[in-house]
Amino acid sequence: MTLSNAPRIDAQEILAGIKEWVEVESPSTDGAAVNRLVDKVAVQLAQIGARVERVPGRDGFGDHIRARSPWGGDGPGIVVLGHLDTVWPNGTLRRRPVTVEGDKVFGPGIYDMKSGDHIAFYAYRHLVRQGRETKLPVTFLFVSEEEVGSPTSRALIEETARNAKYVLVMEPGRPGGAVVTSRKAVGRFDLRVRGVSAHAGAAHENGRSAVAELARQILALEAMTDYARGITVNVGVASGGTPGFANVVPDQAAAEIDFRAPDLASSDEMVRRISGLAPLGKDVSVEVSGGINRPPFEKHEGVTRLYEHAKRCAEELGQELPEVSTGGGSDGNFTAALGVPTLDGLGAVGAGAHAEHEHILVSSLEPRVRLMVKLFETLE
Ligand SMILES: [Zn+2]
Repeated sequence: MTLSNAPRIDAQEILAGIKEWVEVESPSTDGAAVNRLVDKVAVQLAQIGARVERVPGRDGFGDHIRARSPWGGDGPGIVVLGHLDTVWPNGTLRRRPVTVEGDKVFGPGIYDMKSGDHIAFYAYRHLVRQGRETKLPVTFLFVSEEEVGSPTSRALIEETARNAKYVLVMEPGRPGGAVVTSRKAVGRFDLRVRGVSAHAGAAHENGRSAVAELARQILALEAMTDYARGITVNVGVASGGTPGFANVVPDQAAAEIDFRAPDLASSDEMVRRISGLAPLGKDVSVEVSGGINRPPFEKHEGVTRLYEHAKRCAEELGQELPEVSTGGGSDGNFTAALGVPTLDGLGAVGAGAHAEHEHILVSSLEPRVRLMVKLFETLE
C-alpha cells in the first residue's frame, strides 16, 4: 500500500469550503455584510501566497478583491472573475440554511455564484499546495455588487481585463456542464409620466391620468419584444398615484424597464426606440432616462478559440463541455466587449439562480475543479 500526502481533489472538501462562504450572508446592498465575506476570502487568498489588493467600495457597496499570483510578473495573464454578493437579503440563511438532499445542495447564493468562486480558489490552491506554478500569472478579481449591475466595479473590471490574455468567469455552469460563450446586452431605463391631477368625482374631465398613460406606454414597450430576433422588453416595476387616494386623478407614474438584445446593432436600436418614447395620450408628458447597462457578450474569435481550448481540456479529462448562449448578463459582458477572450459559466452545475430552489450538484464539483486546474496549467 502506498501512502501519499499529495493533495487530492475531494468533492466533500470543496463542498465544505463552499458552505463556509455561503454561510456568510452578502446581499449586494449591504456593504458591511459583503465585507465580512471579503475579509474571509482575502485572508484565505493571502494564506496561499497571493498578493491581495483590497479596493475600497463606494456608495455603500462592499470592497473588491484583486489578488495576484506571486509568479508570472506583471504582464498579461489569466483573470478569474467572480462576484461575492448575492440577491438574498440578510436572514435568508436562517430560513433556508445550507442543506444536502442527495446530489443537490441548497443555499442562498450557492449556485450564483459562491460555488464558482470557490472552485477557482480550490483549483489554484491545489496547484500551490504541490509547489506548481502556471505559465501565465493568475489574477483573482472578486467584486461586491454584480447583482445590481456592477456600478462601482465596472472600471476596475475593465482595467484588469485590459491587462489580461484570458478571462475565466466563474458564474454558474449550465445543464449538462455547459459553459457560456455569449450573452445578450442588458439595458435599463426609468420612465416618468406626468399628467394633471383632478378630483375624481367633481372634476374628472379636467384630469389627465398619468397612470392611464403609463398603462398605454407599458403595452407599447412590451410590444417591442421580438422573440424571433432575441429581443425582450420587460416592465418590471410600475407605480403611480398616491396610495390610499383612489379619488384623485393621478398626475404622476413611473416604471423601470429592462431590455435584452443579442448584438450591438439591435441593442443600439432598442436604446433609440425606448429613449424616443413619446406621449400617447393628451396633455401628458413622458421622460425617459437610462441606457445600456451591459454591452453584448458576442462570440468573437477570441471567445471561440478559448472555448475550443477548454473543450479539448475537458475531453482529455473525459468530460463534455457544451456551450450555451444566454439572455442573462454578467461581468463577462464587460470583458468580452473589450475583445478579451472570455469564457463564462465555469462554476458548478445546478439550477435556480435568484430562486428559492437554488442549488448545485455535488457531482459537478470535482470535474469543474479538474477543468480549472487544467485551464490554469495549459493556457499560455
Ligand atoms: Zn452571478
